[in-house]
Amino acid sequence: MSNLEFKKESGPREVFCGLTSIVWLHRRMPDAFFLVVGSRTCAHLIQSAAGVMIFAEPRFGTAILEEKDLAGLADAHEELDRVVNDLINRRPEIKTLFLVGSCPSEVIKLDLATVAEKLNKRFLGKVRFVNYSGSGIETTFTQGEDGALKALVPLMEPSDDEKLLLVGTLSNNVEDRFKKIFNKFGISNVESFPPRQSTELPKIGKKTKVLLTQPYLSETVRELEHRGCQIIHAPFPLGVEGSTKWFLAAADAFKVNELKVHEIVTPLASRARKALQKHTEILRGKKLFLLPESQLEISLARFLHNECKMDLIEVGTPYLNKNLMKEELDLLPDHTKIVEGQHVEKQLDRVRASKPDLVVCGMGLANPLEAEGINTKWSIEMVFSPIHGIDQAADLAGLFSRPLTRNQILTSKTLATI
Ligand code: SF4
Repeated sequence: MSNLEFKKESGPREVFCGLTSIVWLHRRMPDAFFLVVGSRTCAHLIQSAAGVMIFAEPRFGTAILEEKDLAGLADAHEELDRVVNDLINRRPEIKTLFLVGSCPSEVIKLDLATVAEKLNKRFLGKVRFVNYSGSGIETTFTQGEDGALKALVPLMEPSDDEKLLLVGTLSNNVEDRFKKIFNKFGISNVESFPPRQSTELPKIGKKTKVLLTQPYLSETVRELEHRGCQIIHAPFPLGVEGSTKWFLAAADAFKVNELKVHEIVTPLASRARKALQKHTEILRGKKLFLLPESQLEISLARFLHNECKMDLIEVGTPYLNKNLMKEELDLLPDHTKIVEGQHVEKQLDRVRASKPDLVVCGMGLANPLEAEGINTKWSIEMVFSPIHGIDQAADLAGLFSRPLTRNQILTSKTLATI
């Protein structure tokens, strides 16, 4: 890690807010409801991202602001109460209701924690209420998941059972595949958080060994540690290298013989490396610039350099938790430049000056960069695609090789027509 170049940067940002994570959390836990307490802007964001039902009446954004100041808060709470009552009566299948805060100042003034507490008393046993913030002032888009999971930890009952807890949203297929592999190791008590049903929260305790599937869950990890859980430190399961080391770390925590792990993992790894080849041919030697957005950037950079042979110009990340990322940072090549935070204008200047072959960035930056002839890949695709695990390594590489191939085809077509 000492051979890496770290830099911090702050200034104007261009990232999605934490509300975005509702889209994949809702898909994961269909019995949960996310009530966004926000403005029309929040409504548009969520409605365009997914068909999640939301509460985003303009009176929360404007009327209270226009007509009343702090005295209006009582009305705001009443209104929120009314909406929740309506919702619960109309949708008896809702088991967990997340009150999600947002940016408008009227919303920030609302004490959603107290609202959730009161509602929990009123709907005792029927629906559980939790709250967290998805505000763009406080969160980038993957931090929304961190906030939601952190809010659920206090609801997890205690247990003395030894178990492996996979933490971070995974697609159901990938989760099943991981569990099968762990079972083959002889680790049979494996649970996931978040679970597929919000009411089926895993029980946790001192013998719970936490294996993270996503790198953006610092707050959740802190809460789990407070509850006595042990954290297994490992790189993240992206690519063959990261996934293999991830499996090995878990196996080590459960005292599984390393040879047994290799016996199971090696055939998978050989198959995956073969499938990777065609992408590596395209990506080899290409210059990559990662702008900060998802907190997946460091793991992606490690995969794209070590396994796909790309050259790293700069690796941006919105936040860097050196403790959770240590095993990843150790795998990066010497002198990798890691920039924590964002000053979007300075970063774009560096992008243009370094003439990268591919830029990983948010959707808002992709169009202008493409218009300048720079290939881009949206960070958000990484959280909507099943990219975890050895089997998915080629698919993950394909997400990056495709824009380059597409561009080559377009260029050769254009040349042919000249
Ligand atoms: Fe709503 Fe703020 Fe996100 Fe905009 S940045 S959608 S106002 S929470």
